Amino acid sequence: MAKQPKKTLGLETVEPAVTPPPAEQEPAIEKKPVSPGTTRRRDIPQGLWTKCPECEEMIFDKELEENEKVCPHCSHHFLTTAYARIASLTEPESFEEFDADMMSVDTLEFTGTAAYADKLVKHREKTGLKDAVITGIGRIGGHEVGMAVMDFNFLGGSMGSVVGEKITRIVEVATERRLPAIIISSSGGARMYEGMFSLMQLAKTSAAIAYHGRQNLPYISVLTHPTTAGVMASYASLGDLIISEPKAMIGFAGPRVIKDTTQSKLPEGFQTAEFLMERGLIDAIIPRTELKKRLSEYLDYLCGNLG
Ligand SMILES: [Zn+2]
Repeated sequence: MAKQPKKTLGLETVEPAVTPPPAEQEPAIEKKPVSPGTTRRRDIPQGLWTKCPECEEMIFDKELEENEKVCPHCSHHFLTTAYARIASLTEPESFEEFDADMMSVDTLEFTGTAAYADKLVKHREKTGLKDAVITGIGRIGGHEVGMAVMDFNFLGGSMGSVVGEKITRIVEVATERRLPAIIISSSGGARMYEGMFSLMQLAKTSAAIAYHGRQNLPYISVLTHPTTAGVMASYASLGDLIISEPKAMIGFAGPRVIKDTTQSKLPEGFQTAEFLMERGLIDAIIPRTELKKRLSEYLDYLCGNLG
């Protein structure tokens, strides 16, 4: 039997009512793990407005940018970028980036559901970054500071050789110049695509921070949503002061793993900044919009006796 010509309704060539974003483009609401306790999250068409996943208010994108990506209604902290953080924290034109061209290589030739080499290329294109941390020297208030700022948008802020090396180098520069250090973390942990090379960064970064500390130089660790696993197990938890953004998820192993291992019910609010502050791990919870002022005050206090 002859094949019936396929009936057309004349719709095949019509553009969809809402043009879907290209596969690689960021959705209107960034894909960030939802804060514990919130599961309401819906994609909305790209446009000028973003729906807050916490209070569900619509926020004008420009307003959200101007408020450092903090919801003006409920103070929900949206995911932001390393460069946006640096711009909001440092004095204008004071930031000098270090090791800007350092790039990860696929030493293990890792292939799985996706090849590491392809992932690197994609994330470089998507974010405009070379890797998941930006480091440099900048001025906050009256203080020059060695800074490392992680960017969760690049492979979940995972710590591979480049992240570890850049952080180690900037801490060493800070030690040499007798400057305080600030690291702003945002990471899912060690970068599994780099296997053991990634795990070695825990020891390397921790050693650089210990040496910095032995020279009586202060180090402030700032935790943002989320800071977990290998990063929390190394430099993020080594601050003389450890501060966090509100409601950030902070921990080592995931809650499910801990629950299965310990066979016990986890307390409410487990692995949030607020929970950890109550128990003494975190010294202060500071909203992003106040961070510059507070860091500047802490530096005044901590650097009073630096020569
Ligand atoms: Zn909100």
